[in-house]
Amino acid sequence: MSALEQPYVYARRQLVEPDWTRFPGWRDITPGQWADAQWQRVSCVKNVAQLRALMGDLLEERFYADLERDQQERATMSMLVTPQMMNTMVPESVWPDGRMPRAGAAFTDAFYADPVRAYMLPVFSDRRTDWPSHPFATRDSLHEHDMWAVEGLTHRYPTKVLAEMLPTCPQYCGHCTRMDLVGNSTPQVLKLKLQGKPVDRYAAMLDYLQRTPGVRDVVVSGGDVANMPWKNLEAFLDRLLEIDTIRDVRLATKALMGLPQHWLQPDVVEGVGRVAATARSRGVSLAIHTHVNNAQSVTPLVADAARAMLDAGVRDVRNQGVLMRGVNDSPAALLDLCFALQDEASITPYYFYMCDMIPFSEHWRLSLREAQHLQHAIMGYLPGFATPRIVCDVPFVGKRWVHQVESYDTEKGMSFWRKNYRTSIEAGDEQALSREYVYYDPIYTLPEPGQRWWRENTDVDAAHAAALVSAESSRVASLG
Ligand code: SF4
Repeated sequence: MSALEQPYVYARRQLVEPDWTRFPGWRDITPGQWADAQWQRVSCVKNVAQLRALMGDLLEERFYADLERDQQERATMSMLVTPQMMNTMVPESVWPDGRMPRAGAAFTDAFYADPVRAYMLPVFSDRRTDWPSHPFATRDSLHEHDMWAVEGLTHRYPTKVLAEMLPTCPQYCGHCTRMDLVGNSTPQVLKLKLQGKPVDRYAAMLDYLQRTPGVRDVVVSGGDVANMPWKNLEAFLDRLLEIDTIRDVRLATKALMGLPQHWLQPDVVEGVGRVAATARSRGVSLAIHTHVNNAQSVTPLVADAARAMLDAGVRDVRNQGVLMRGVNDSPAALLDLCFALQDEASITPYYFYMCDMIPFSEHWRLSLREAQHLQHAIMGYLPGFATPRIVCDVPFVGKRWVHQVESYDTEKGMSFWRKNYRTSIEAGDEQALSREYVYYDPIYTLPEPGQRWWRENTDVDAAHAAALVSAESSRVASLG
């Protein structure tokens, strides 16, 4: 009897930095410029004209028209792609003979199909036309603002808080769950504005943490902390580490992958070393959490940045990716990514979140059943400590492993969840722990009777209006 192949065959793969000079606009860019964080920031692709200038004649006109329409009618995030991230799209290494076609239909089709492009430069034709948004999609789908203890400090879990330090990032991801607050306004989404001055907000956060000794764990996030001037971030972290009830501090930065040049700057590495030494002397665990969604994004520079952080004294660098159709929705794509992170970049695969129910995200979202299949398919290949959990961030509940679902109506795509703690807005809610909380699958993934049920029971125009009302309330909030 011949041996059957394993569903996934592991082979160690060397990381490569794709050759950026393959893009006409970067033909003369030197390695020194590429390594310069400031050059990376000023050379980001922020609009269609800049993409045209970079691509020369590589892309056909149909792509630009598709992108422009998306920007006008669908995008919840403005365009901002670092050169580092652009350079991981259609790398030569994905072509069978290692040579990218010069231009035209083959290149354009490959660009459309590229997993990094699919979430960093979404186009109109990517999105669903039947249900572009789920009827229950909302701008702040996790209700983080409802749980602000002070402005920007979300207290959802009993012992943990999320500190939203600033509303910007070095790169903007099309599926960003904080689309309500993060980034520039788009024609579809007027962003909420933080009201307090940063210095006052940070002081209020620290004051709350001093007054709330039950909180031991702080995720210092944004946006992306790579957009905070280092001296301001270090000053905040120093004060945070003075609070002796804080035992875990995690810095959230997608830029470790999207702009590794930032974390490789000598002054930043030295600063991280100082903070890590303080944390260690106080027995606090300081970690970095990043956000990588596809193996193509893991390059030698990303590995260098992660190792620089570990060498500086950070206890761990962990990845929290987002599960998205067309980006990483197969066992092989997830395992390739996890092995690239774990084996080649010293980054621990930690979580994959199901994509949240924000407007216009239906084409990216997977059903709970699909997520459960993926979780099953990736078990047993990685070490247990580096086997990521696929989690559903259930509104008003928090992260639940996809197999923790209480019950599941697969026809209507409704899953029901319970929780074992009260969020900060449920102190007096006696039913909080016995109530069932609902999460919804994308409607187009349901069997026909389920799709029919949604068509017959949902007024699509009313759902759209509800999203606009939600936008209006944010607009009012932003006007103070
Ligand atoms: S880096 Fe994070 S916060 Fe910033 S746009 Fe991407 S997902 Fe949103």
